[in-house]
Parts: sequence; structure tokens; C-alpha cells
Amino acid sequence: MKALTYHGAGHHRWGDVPTPVVRDPQDAVIRVDAVTICGTDLHILKGDVPEVESGRVLGHEAVGTVSEVGPGVRDFAAGDRVLVSCISSCGRCRNCRTGAYGQCSGGGGWVLGHLIDGTQAEYVRVPFADTSLYRLPDAVGDEQALMLADILPTSYEVGVRNGHVGPGDTVVVVGAGPIGLAAITTARLFTPSRIIAVDPSSARREAAKAFGADVVLDLPEATLDTLSALTADGQAAHVAIEAVGVPESVELCTRLVRAGGHVANVGVHGRPATLHLEDLWIRDLTITTGLVDTTSTPLLLDLLAEGRLGTEGMITHRFGLDEMPTAYDVFSRAGETGALKVALFRR
Ligand SMILES: [Zn+2]
Ligand SMILES: [Zn+2]
Repeated sequence: MKALTYHGAGHHRWGDVPTPVVRDPQDAVIRVDAVTICGTDLHILKGDVPEVESGRVLGHEAVGTVSEVGPGVRDFAAGDRVLVSCISSCGRCRNCRTGAYGQCSGGGGWVLGHLIDGTQAEYVRVPFADTSLYRLPDAVGDEQALMLADILPTSYEVGVRNGHVGPGDTVVVVGAGPIGLAAITTARLFTPSRIIAVDPSSARREAAKAFGADVVLDLPEATLDTLSALTADGQAAHVAIEAVGVPESVELCTRLVRAGGHVANVGVHGRPATLHLEDLWIRDLTITTGLVDTTSTPLLLDLLAEGRLGTEGMITHRFGLDEMPTAYDVFSRAGETGALKVALFRR
């Protein structure tokens, strides 16, 4: 089969690799019907995720059809339409038993396109199928479902929920790429009084407005004074969500929240950021980091099926699966191409 493989920083290849087969009794092999590329894949290609070995099939977000299951799989059968989530869960380890699937110590967690071969291929082997796959209702189309594989649960759990977004809050989202837009959409579930999006790209600021940001700011405008002027009580943001993954944006988030505020980092980082404790120690801030657990996936799936979550406009470019190199090129030059999410489909 054809797949996109990683070959050290800066190098990837679309070519032939062996088609995956059931290896463990709990495995399922999924025919990939729709797949997307993630900002995390670009971080991998930059060399930011050194655990990824040369030859690894990348990708951790897909929608597909079950083609084969191992003898230990009880809840899925060939022909089922499923979501392949970025997180796999053994369902049995201590962390999985508390819902921390992202921290699974039994062979799951974020393994697809990271520690085992991933979804940017014609077929993918998913371990622990019963506790890692999600059956998709007809009401949720492939494009909507793709947003559930990573960006919706990640922005909701690691951004909105870790940031304790509540009714009446002022929320600032730094970075209006796919994760930032998904954070805006899911923050609205909690009725904040104002959502402010910060991004240097005017196209992304426009997208942020379309997804429900009340105010959009260019980078130089994002100062404590501006933020304070935008809240009813003049005290800056209650919550800052970092959705970029560079040191400067984390440091910016810590400057834009009020005393007692929350900074929720969602970005994937490859360099250290400076934590200005000499300024921050007195301000009662909470700073959180996290890898998504995907415990919210069933809830978000219900909201999508009921039309309560907007994902329209998230996918900006569509390709056939065999156009993978072009899709990578378009996605990696998002500043010029205006790409948010790119999606590739079996044709
Ligand atoms: Zn992803
Ligand atoms: Zn586990």
C-alpha cells in the first residue's frame, strides 16, 4: 500500500510500504477513507519529536472502515464506519482506569504516527480497537468526524476545560490556526462574555471571527492594556489559551491574564520557554499543560450529531489520498496558501 513515511528532520516520502495486518488479538485494521495532516506532523518533520523513528508512517487522525479485526475484538466488525482517534487506550492500566488515556502505560496513548505506524496511509492498524475506536453515526459526515480525531477534543480538554472557562469569562486565544479555532468553538459552549483571538495573519483573524471570536487582535495589539480595556471590569482575561507552540506565545499568555487567571497551554513545543516567576509568583496564576485524553470524544460526537458545534470552514483544502505530498506542501505553507485543515480522501 501507499503511505507517508518520515525519514529524519525535513524528509518525508509517499511510497510503498507493507500493508498492516492484525498482530495482536485486540487489533483492528482500518481502511482509511479520510485523513488529515496535523500541526504536530509538521513539528515531527522539524525534528521536534525525536522519538519518531525513520521509516515511521505519520498521521494520527482519520475516518475509515474496519477491514479486519483480531479474535479479541468484540465491539467492532468488518464494514463498521469508525473514527480513528489520535489517542489509543488499553483500557486496563492504572491511567486508563482513571480516564487518563493520553497517559496510557499499557501500550496506548499517542502512539499512532509517533511510536507505531499511523493513519496517513491506505490502511492503518489500530491497537486496543474496542477501547480506541468510535463508531460513527450517519448524521456525522467524514469531514466533521475528522475534526474529532484530535483538534476538537484537544482544544476542549487541554484548552477550554484545563483553563476552567466559565460563564461570563473573558477568554483570549493566542493562535487562530485549527486548534485555536476549535478552542473558540468549544469555549462558546460555556458562554464566556468575550472571546478575543490573537494572530498575526489577517486571514486567520477573519477565520477566528467566523468561528465566534468577538474581537480579533494582531500580535502587536495584544498587550495587557488592550486586554484590560476589553473586559467589563478592566482586569484582563480570565483565561488565556496558547494554541501555537512557540515560547513567545506562552510568555504572551502569562502577560494577558488577570490575577487568579488560568493559562492553558495546548501548543506542541520544541524549544524552552521562559517562565517569569519574578513577576508571576504573586499573581495566583495556574498554568496547565496536557496531552489530550479524548474522554470528551463521545460528548463532542453527540454535539456534532445535534448540530451544536460549528466545524464549517475548518477544512480549506481537499485532496485525493495519493496527493499527500502536495497536501503537505500546501499545509506547511499555510501563511501563503491560507490552509487551516487539509483533508485527503480515498477516491
Ligand atoms: Zn493532530
Ligand atoms: Zn492504558
